[in-house]
Amino acid sequence: MAALGTPGGTVEILKKYNFSFRKKYGQNFLIDTNILKKIVDASCITEQDCVLEIGPGIGTMTQYLAKSAKEVIAVEIDRALIPILEDTLSGYDNVTIINEDILKLDIGRMVEEKNEGRAIKVVANLPYYITTPIIMGLLEGHVPIESITIMVQKEVADRMQTGPGTKDYGALSLAVQYYTKPEIVAQVTPACFMPKPKVGSAVIRLARHEKPPVDVDDEKLMFSVIRASFNQRRKTLVNGLANDPKLGISKEKALEVLETMGLPSTVRGEALSLKEFAQLSNLLF
Ligand code: SAM
Repeated sequence: MAALGTPGGTVEILKKYNFSFRKKYGQNFLIDTNILKKIVDASCITEQDCVLEIGPGIGTMTQYLAKSAKEVIAVEIDRALIPILEDTLSGYDNVTIINEDILKLDIGRMVEEKNEGRAIKVVANLPYYITTPIIMGLLEGHVPIESITIMVQKEVADRMQTGPGTKDYGALSLAVQYYTKPEIVAQVTPACFMPKPKVGSAVIRLARHEKPPVDVDDEKLMFSVIRASFNQRRKTLVNGLANDPKLGISKEKALEVLETMGLPSTVRGEALSLKEFAQLSNLLF
C-alpha cells in the first residue's frame, strides 16, 4: 500500500472502505508528507510524551505521532472512520482511538487516567468549523497541556498572533496570548489537502506559559470584560461594558475606571492591550 500522506495512498484507503467525505465534519485530509513532517517537528514530541490528536481522519498524522510519542490518544467523531483507523494504525500498540465529539469529552479526566495528570501535548489538523470552541475549551478548561500544535485557517492563525489596533484582534487573540506564546510555523496551500479547502491554512504552535504574562485578580471576570468589549465592536468600550447585563457595571463606574487608567472615554475595546484589560478588570471589580 502507498504511504497515507500521499494522494495515491489516501485514495487507495478511501476506496477500500468506500468512504465519502462529510463536509459537516470539516474533513480535509492531509496529502503532503513535507507538511506532515513540519507539524510533527514543530510539536517537539519526545518518547516520554502523551499526545492528544483531535480528528485523526484516516490516521495519516497519527502514524507519524505514534512513531515519536510514548502514547497517542486519537479522538474522532465520524464513526465511518473508525474501521479505517483500526486498519491503518494496526501496526502501532501505543494508539488509543476514541469515537467521540471532542467538545463533549472530559479531557481533564482523560489526562488524569491516561497520563496520571502530567501535561500532554495536543497536535491536530483541526476541523475548521469548530476551531475557536476547541481552542477556548483547551485553554480555559485548565487541562494540563504543555503545547498545542495545530493546523487552522490562515486567518484564524493571524487572529491568534495579532496585537491591539488591527481588525483581526479580539477575544481569541487575548485568550491565546494570556495562556500561551503563539508562533506560526508554516503556511499551507489548499493543494496539500484532499479535498481542497477554499481557504489558505497555517500551522501554529501555542506554547503554554508557566505563569500568565499579566497579573489578574480574577481571570474569569477579565474574560467576561473582554467578551463584553468585543461583543459590540462598533460601540465604545464604555457602552460595551455598561450594556452587558451579566457584568452589572454602570456607565459612571466604567468612565471612572477609564479615567484612572488615563484612557479617553471614547476608547474602543480593540485599542486595549492584554495588560490594559487586566488592569481594567482589576479596577472594575
Ligand atoms: N487528521 C486528519 C488529517 O490531517 O488528514 C484529518 C483532519 S480533518 C481537517 C478534521 C478531522 O476532524 C476529520 O477527521 C473529522 O471527521 C474530525 N472531526 C470533526 N469534528 C470533530 C469533533 N467534534 N470531534 C472529533 N473529531 C472531529
